[in-house]
Amino acid sequence: MRDPKITKIFEVAKAEERNFLFEHEAKQLCNLYGMPITAIEIAKTEEEAAKAANKIGYPIVLKIISPQVLHKSDAGGVLIGLNDEKAVRSGYNTIITNIKKNVPTATIEGILVQEMAPKSTEVIIGSTNDPTFGMTIMFGLGGIFVEILKDVSFRIVPITKIDAEEMIEEIKAKKILEGARGMPKADKETIVNTLLATSKMLVECPEIKELDMNPVLVYEKGARIVDARVIL
Ligand code: ADP
Ligand code: MG
Repeated sequence: MRDPKITKIFEVAKAEERNFLFEHEAKQLCNLYGMPITAIEIAKTEEEAAKAANKIGYPIVLKIISPQVLHKSDAGGVLIGLNDEKAVRSGYNTIITNIKKNVPTATIEGILVQEMAPKSTEVIIGSTNDPTFGMTIMFGLGGIFVEILKDVSFRIVPITKIDAEEMIEEIKAKKILEGARGMPKADKETIVNTLLATSKMLVECPEIKELDMNPVLVYEKGARIVDARVIL
């Protein structure tokens, strides 16, 4: 039986008649499956944002929480690299001003204050419900590798550890994960565990129609899911 905390996340979305999870809900869900997420706190006032940032530590990333804003940076709803409390306080107000201007109909539920993950190799993990095969899991390197080169691997869930290892081996640019061209060597064990946890989550949560963890930053040790989107 899945953790009641997981069911609760979906119930809240349903009660609010949302067909998607907010980033913080998607990250909480991933975290309940043991996946590595950024530290997150919700702030409803500038004061709360400052407090949350001081608790998490700098640099800080701020993001809009609004049911009308799914693509947050397009709407001016993401600020990264805020280095002190003053920058967080003014950033809080900048995001609200941007959203009011760019998406006048948006209801603002708060600002998500989060740890800024250091730069590293970016990978993506996603899932869609294929009409023929059912839930699939996808893995690839972020940025141009997925968008232009479509260098990704797929499996049908559930996957085994061997499947997860093969998914990493199958992508053409896998040498990047091995430390080619001055990139950090990526922690493959963490990628494998994250793929396995994603598969488990997809099997246990039929509410999920689509999943997009993009990007996931992978380090020599560990990883951080920086953005996560779930469609219900
Ligand atoms: P969008 O809804 O526009 O996809 P994201 O949450 O993906 O918004 O943020 C946009 C970009 O900002 C990300 O692709 C990433 O490069 C950067 N970013 C976002 N959150 C973080 C974070 N916590 N640490 C480091 N970089 C981040
Ligand atoms: Mg994103």
